[in-house]
Amino acid sequence: MPDQTVTVDVEHSVEDYKSGVKPTWCPGCGDFGVLNAVYNSMRAKGYAPQDVVLVSGIGCSSRLPFFSSTYGFHTVHGRTMPIATGIKVANPNLKVLALGGDGDAFAIGGGHFIHAARRNLDVCYVIMDNAIYGLTKGQTSPTSMVGFVTKTTPKGTPDRPVNPLQLAMASGATFVARAFSGKPKELADLIVQGIDHKGFAIIDTYSPCPTFNKVNTFKYYRDQAMELPKDHNPTDVMQAWARAQSTDPVYLGVLYRAEGEDSFEDHIVSAHSGVEADADGVIDSILERYS
Ligand code: SF4
Repeated sequence: MPDQTVTVDVEHSVEDYKSGVKPTWCPGCGDFGVLNAVYNSMRAKGYAPQDVVLVSGIGCSSRLPFFSSTYGFHTVHGRTMPIATGIKVANPNLKVLALGGDGDAFAIGGGHFIHAARRNLDVCYVIMDNAIYGLTKGQTSPTSMVGFVTKTTPKGTPDRPVNPLQLAMASGATFVARAFSGKPKELADLIVQGIDHKGFAIIDTYSPCPTFNKVNTFKYYRDQAMELPKDHNPTDVMQAWARAQSTDPVYLGVLYRAEGEDSFEDHIVSAHSGVEADADGVIDSILERYS
């Protein structure tokens, strides 16, 4: 089993990662715990703020980069993965952490999510999963439970929810974890593990929306969720799949991990190594046409 200890670098404090912009989330929003965990994971890694890029989509949770002193890119709805891919390809040395909500990741961004997973993009993606659209004042999301009542589904939604962990595994993600924002220390540790993992790491994080979701509350997750058994083997895909399927309890921790796989960046670098950029002048000739 991998070492799950977080190593604290004394050169940075959590204050170094704060932008000074006060979070605009509702009091009691689960996203505060995630922000706290993101700060602590960067501190644990000893990253300088200028070496990190936080990339998000659209939604309450996607405001998170505003509250950090790192570089940040608050992109377009559902387009976190293409932007993160571009950043990693342009500069693989940057540390890229992707952030966003369940609607952003699994509805409008669902196609991008699948392809980032199968490419094994070397990015850690923390999804703040509150099973509702909060920014637009409370509609069902891809992870809402069957029968969930909202303004747009007054008789309860008939749609079955996406299982984010199984979707990630089926799409080829090589690190698949579940967390709870009510346990920010454990979440920070998972983010560190996701950053350290070579390849696509997703951490589906229960992050309650107390304003619009009165079902999936902090109490609900405290009652439903438990840590994976000590003997869980994350390299056993069938065991991981079965535990990802479980709803009572829902398991927290690293359900699945595959090591030693090439990442998307490995293929890009090897495809371009030894090739002089625009050696035959094609790019220059195209640009000249527009000058
Ligand atoms: Fe958080 Fe919900 Fe408020 Fe959005 S609406 S900030 S998700 S509590």
